[in-house]
Amino acid sequence: TQWVYSFGAGRNEGRADMRNLLGGKGANLAEMASIGLPVPPGFTITTEVCTHYYANGEQYPGELQAQVRAALARVEDAVGLKFGDTDKPLLVSVRSGARVSMPGMMDTVLNLGLNDATVEGLARASGDERFAWDSYRRFIQMFGGVVLGVDHHRFEEIIEGVKLDRGVVEDTALTAADWKTVITGYKEAVQEATGKPFPQEPEAQLWAAIGAVFGSWMNQRAITYRRLHDIPAEWGTAVNVQAMVFGNMGEDCATGVCFTRDPSTGEDIFYGEYLVNAQGEDVVAGIRTPQPMSKLRAKPGERPMEDVMPAAYAELVRVRETLEKHYKDMQDIEFTVQQNKLYMLQTRNGKRTAAASLKIAVDMCREGLIDQSEAIKRVAPGSLDQLLHPTLDPKAPRKVLSKGLPASPGAACGVVVFSADEAELRAREGESVILVRVETSPEDIHGMHAARGILTTRGGMTSHAAVVARGMGRPCVAGAGGITVDYTAQALSAGGHIIRAGETITLDGATGEIFIGSVAMIEPQLSGDFAALMEWADKVRRMKVRANAETPLDAETARKFGAEGIGLCRTEHMFFDPERIGAVRQMIMAEHETGRRTALAKLLPFQRQDFHDLFRIMAGLPVTIRLLDPPLHEFLPHSDAEIAEVANSLGVDVALMQRRAADLSEANPMLGHRGCRLGISYPEIYEMQARAIFEAAVQVAKETGAAPVPEIMIPLVMTKRELDITRAQVDRMAAEVFAESGTTIEYLVGTMIELPRAALTANQIAESADFFSFGTNDLTQTVFGLSRDDAGKFLPSYVEKNILPKDPFVSLDVEGVGALVEIAAQKGRGVKPGLKLGICGEHGGDPASIQFCETVGLEYVSCSPYRVPVARLAAAQAAL
Ligand code: ADP
Ligand code: MG
Ligand code: MG
Repeated sequence: TQWVYSFGAGRNEGRADMRNLLGGKGANLAEMASIGLPVPPGFTITTEVCTHYYANGEQYPGELQAQVRAALARVEDAVGLKFGDTDKPLLVSVRSGARVSMPGMMDTVLNLGLNDATVEGLARASGDERFAWDSYRRFIQMFGGVVLGVDHHRFEEIIEGVKLDRGVVEDTALTAADWKTVITGYKEAVQEATGKPFPQEPEAQLWAAIGAVFGSWMNQRAITYRRLHDIPAEWGTAVNVQAMVFGNMGEDCATGVCFTRDPSTGEDIFYGEYLVNAQGEDVVAGIRTPQPMSKLRAKPGERPMEDVMPAAYAELVRVRETLEKHYKDMQDIEFTVQQNKLYMLQTRNGKRTAAASLKIAVDMCREGLIDQSEAIKRVAPGSLDQLLHPTLDPKAPRKVLSKGLPASPGAACGVVVFSADEAELRAREGESVILVRVETSPEDIHGMHAARGILTTRGGMTSHAAVVARGMGRPCVAGAGGITVDYTAQALSAGGHIIRAGETITLDGATGEIFIGSVAMIEPQLSGDFAALMEWADKVRRMKVRANAETPLDAETARKFGAEGIGLCRTEHMFFDPERIGAVRQMIMAEHETGRRTALAKLLPFQRQDFHDLFRIMAGLPVTIRLLDPPLHEFLPHSDAEIAEVANSLGVDVALMQRRAADLSEANPMLGHRGCRLGISYPEIYEMQARAIFEAAVQVAKETGAAPVPEIMIPLVMTKRELDITRAQVDRMAAEVFAESGTTIEYLVGTMIELPRAALTANQIAESADFFSFGTNDLTQTVFGLSRDDAGKFLPSYVEKNILPKDPFVSLDVEGVGALVEIAAQKGRGVKPGLKLGICGEHGGDPASIQFCETVGLEYVSCSPYRVPVARLAAAQAAL
């Protein structure tokens, strides 16, 4: 078996696509070397050695030692140095490298091969004594820390002691002699901590470092990281051993890390940092201030590499082009310059923000590096969410109150409220509110929904508030520990400021900042790159994308984001308006049909106006309107005062009203008197709604000359008979309105498939339906037998323990719920080939669920307005 793969100096046994065997770092070192980039030679010990090691009682494969020796000999030949040689010693770095970059793994050890004798050789060969002893002390420090486990503070104390003695501040002011003193101290520290002298034998150093890399695969940090990120232990890590190049040999040497484009904006500009006369991790360690790469990014007084080392910089610019041409993606690279010669030490696809990801994909497509389909695939649909929210105007004045975690993107401004109920109440009155809580729980959902933004003082990026806010597209700042919330006093305080309920604050969910008062905002940029990518996506997707919307504002937002219709207008949301709730309560509290009809007559003009506005905004695009669905229970007056008010308006006494309220209350309303069951018990409700729809449609047809096509949806149907009865009501109202107005328009009547029985008998139901819309929220509830409102208390732990792969209310459960969707689609189309099929649950905005909808061949997905672009891109990816 080949356990060791060489790279560099003309022998490249690995390739980029061998990352499983060689780890990401090793595979890309080989790839870079094979496309002619200057990579110091070395070799990779495969991940299979790691697996073998753990499968065999921590023993290496028998052939390993010989293969390592042979590979090392090749490196010696290539660079003309010898490992352990006292005149011309070869030094190497030992670097870990798993398939995916993994914090928790052993840190890199540089300058391995140095000892009391070889350091003298290095000093003579380089003619630089200071450099040699600095390298040696770095080696003892790194090896002592990461391989021998000596507390790094010990080493720092020793350096500090010597600096104090010499009266200097900077490391660079220490001489060779000073470093020798440091090294004496280091060796004593190692002896003290390990009971043994610092290992002098280079071969022993090498195997100890290799062993430490494999050992670190099973350390607690790495195990925890793997568990959190679903990385199997079987993957193992590789070890890279590579000839050293030196960035610390003088002023013509440097080391740096950079991105081939700006990872936060995506701009086509070299972005990164470098340090002259430095080695390895000095750049990130913060000992000295790193300098920018490009002149364009240099602030006054900074020394960009472009000016300081023009030749090496020019070489790096060529490398950058080669890399991007080759990998066809933005790269994150590490390099070292030794005496003006550039060496590449690492490359990988760079991490980037959502904005950068979009810009880079579109730019690279325009540059001809990738085609449109590739550009579409490059952008994670979910990340678009971040780009669709308002942001603070960078020029606007602001006063910072405090700072927390940037938990959900977007900026929001509103008055402070301290409870979910208050948030809902004030929002209903048209106020913009910011919900402030110590932390949130599932009971706060309605308030979070009503709020423009959410602020918590406790909890992290995965706290309830953060997760829910991201899901809802609400800006959120979480865990702002500098703020104290006093619920009793209805005030929050931070840094001497007190903000009371009703006063205004502004949140920036992208930075975590909280501001006093309101800060001017700018609307998201939906033109430019965003529009370009969307246009490409629209060309390739098959499914249409509609929005769930009921207010004119939602409908307008949906259109702005490219919705091709409304897939779900929940009419009950229209009933909570303070102007209407009174009539709604009169209607449900009335004991007889006449009383209900009187109350419904008051609601009719409101409903007609609602639909009129929606039809106007949607301008001929399909609008699916769901007739009343929730249990009447939800509209009941709660307080005695509310009950008294309804009693008064109906002219009956309060006791009677209380009895009626008690009658209507249900133990399990979600499985109770709701959906079409209401329409069957009280036909006048659906009649009023159908009349409002048709009158509005006729009116808009007359006003605009273009007739809307309403799609009327009957909720929660479990049998064909239910649909027949309710459909007849709708058809009768249509006939009446068309006769009255002398205008006839087209319309469809369909149903939501949201009960298992409906899915299983879809062939019967389809006979009476023009369309099906999969209501996967209720379908998930009823398939799992889980209440969506309560499951939040234990579902996260189910996901954590891997009992469920994902929260089924967030991402459609393909195996169970999905199976029913497929059955229903098949049975429905079996009797009616042209049956229109769509989905309108939360899942309609979830990329993985959209992928599933494509495989079932649905005609459209419908999601919340802010998710529309996400869905457009996801639908395109699904179609590719
Ligand atoms: P990490 O995964 O933490 O980035 P690396 O193995 O990439 O660890 O090493 C960190 C740094 O060490 C590199 O950025 C590079 O500057 C330096 N380094 C590693 N190998 C060598 C080498 N052979 N010669 C010079 N510097 C090296
Ligand atoms: Mg590291
Ligand atoms: Mg690195």
